[in-house]
Amino acid sequence: MPNCRPRLPHFIRIIPVLTVACVITACGGGGGDGGAPPPAPPPTPPQASDVTVDPGIVVLFETDRRSVTATVRDANGNILTGRTVTWSSLNDAVATVSTTGEIIAVSVGTATIRATVEGQQGDALITVTPPISTYEDYKAHFPYQETSGQFIVSSDFSAAFSQQHLEHLMMTWQYFSALYLGSAGTYTEMYYTRDLTGLYSRIIATCPTTIVVGGRNLTACFDSQNGVYIWFVVPYIEPDFGTQLHEIGHSFLYFTQFDSANWPWFNEGISMYWESGSFDANGSYSVTAPLPYLTSNFRRASNANALVPLPTLFQLTRNQFYGDPDPAKLYSQAGMLLYYVSKQYPAVAQALIESINNGQIVNNNAVIDYILQQTGLTITELETNYTQYALQF
Ligand SMILES: [Zn+2]
Repeated sequence: MPNCRPRLPHFIRIIPVLTVACVITACGGGGGDGGAPPPAPPPTPPQASDVTVDPGIVVLFETDRRSVTATVRDANGNILTGRTVTWSSLNDAVATVSTTGEIIAVSVGTATIRATVEGQQGDALITVTPPISTYEDYKAHFPYQETSGQFIVSSDFSAAFSQQHLEHLMMTWQYFSALYLGSAGTYTEMYYTRDLTGLYSRIIATCPTTIVVGGRNLTACFDSQNGVYIWFVVPYIEPDFGTQLHEIGHSFLYFTQFDSANWPWFNEGISMYWESGSFDANGSYSVTAPLPYLTSNFRRASNANALVPLPTLFQLTRNQFYGDPDPAKLYSQAGMLLYYVSKQYPAVAQALIESINNGQIVNNNAVIDYILQQTGLTITELETNYTQYALQF
């Protein structure tokens, strides 16, 4: 099953919450009257000056629900938190909104959903369309559209956000599609959506073909009548292509002959490699250093004398690999092995992907045989070399 992904959060990031304690001290320097200084007046909290609702434009099918959020800023543009937001609909017959900002599409039409904070207002424009009955209906759900290279690209994010991120999306596409040629057919349309629920329930229900393939972030619907693929891209948590590269890398593998269930170390290793790089403003992808996640976990396992020998790593089943008590160790070994091959033998890495892509390499043993044959290393040398390489970071 192409959607059978590991459920483990294999690279959880912990975002430190920076708490700034603002200590306001009473001025005690200029007293002089000998009495106790008067208590400091409580600081005046900044007033809300601007409210924006995100997304500002929402297109929903009848009976759909979607939550929107309000951002409150003071006169200097600083975000204010903890303010009470009052939600209201200016047209309850079309769309209602809960006290937490969840919109329910009631009937076809348009409505303004308003967030009010301390007398300031922000609006979202809601368009409710008839219930979906065709694939075309679903695609009409995406309000922003532009032509980008070979694609018509559409998005259900705001226009400003879409323009910024669609560009990055196309960089990602161009890079990976050149590596993973995928199946026959051309690619004509790409939809960039936060509508994860709608994507799976509606695309699977209405895709004009029998084929829906993809991972969590990238799903393709093949229109066999026209011989074209239509792609749907779901950003990973929040749009952040630095981390999405990992998941996008997984997703592209699903479009090759690659059967990730049988090669978990390769699946994870190559995705860790992709995640290690980034795109520059011109769309060039480069990897300058392995992820700290890889190097630190590798070093930790090495120090504990707990690295898994390569022949064992290669033979772990998917459940053994992803279900290991210390998966970070295995991800790091796989990642650093493929990082080593990619950096030291880039032509071998490229040809390896091509050979998987065209079905010449179809299992673990063939991957290893290929690497050994092309690099001229023995398995012992490969083990020694990649370990030494990984520990230099
Ligand atoms: Zn992964």
